[in-house]
Amino acid sequence: EVTPALQALTSLGDLFISVKTTLSYHRSRLDVILKTWFTLAQEETWFFSDSQDPEYQERTNGHLINTNCSTSHNRKALCCKMSVEFDTFLRSDKKWFCHFDDDNYVNIPKLLSTLGKYSPQEDWYLGRPSIRTPLEILDREKKKLVDGKRENIKFWFATGGAGFCISRALALKMSPVASGGKFISVCERIRLPDDVTIGYIIEHLLKKKLTYTSEFHSHLEPMKFLRQESFPEQITFSYSGQGRDLNVLKAEGLDERIDPTRFMSLHCYLFPHYSFCPR
Ligand code: UDP
Ligand code: MN
Repeated sequence: EVTPALQALTSLGDLFISVKTTLSYHRSRLDVILKTWFTLAQEETWFFSDSQDPEYQERTNGHLINTNCSTSHNRKALCCKMSVEFDTFLRSDKKWFCHFDDDNYVNIPKLLSTLGKYSPQEDWYLGRPSIRTPLEILDREKKKLVDGKRENIKFWFATGGAGFCISRALALKMSPVASGGKFISVCERIRLPDDVTIGYIIEHLLKKKLTYTSEFHSHLEPMKFLRQESFPEQITFSYSGQGRDLNVLKAEGLDERIDPTRFMSLHCYLFPHYSFCPR
């Protein structure tokens, strides 16, 4: 018999999974996601892009959102997308906001079991920083000067390229400063990227701590050191580069020519019954 208190608090339907993308990456990056992990969370996953694309609108079952943000890779455009992701989550009835990049593989069962350890009614910010020490910046917001100088502030932030999750309780506390497009103004004020701005709002403005979650991985780490046997324990994976400068997982399975990102081989290691998996 299962005690109710020990049952998983989180089910798939509690998640809002957002994936940041851009028109020119739809074919090169979304295809492998649609074949692999998206199939495990189709209703919960939304792609935030910058253009209409009827082909991918159909292939995502209507889950491609045109943010109308600029297609360029500058801070303003990326903060604009994060702002729309955040506002779309707030309008939903979901308990967790999880953001990923379009070069992430999300291990859905592990994401769920991890979130199940935390209550969405409490304040949680889960992710992995890519720097060893907290970020230290000059506080542009504070008017108060110490000895005629502005004070430095320090805070941790979860790397957006590894993915991160925020509980609804915390998102609601962020909303006075970050909802309704206000996130973009905070980005502009502190002049830092979207993931750093999320950390700034949570750690500096709200004084809540990032919970270091080592199972999120971005391509700022060398992917080849993640051991295949540990894949089921990881929440996210990534890839980058081309030619000789590839940073990809060492995963046995499909040929590199059909699986250059190694995400299909990873998926087959986790879920061997998929039709494209070697048997
Ligand atoms: N991206 C975007 N607009 C752009 C370029 C990139 O929205 O003009 C998104 C991209 O789809 C990905 C994220 O930003 O989700 C990071 O992009 P990328 O992996 O190319 O760069 P990185 O910052 O990881 O080097
Ligand atoms: Mn990337």
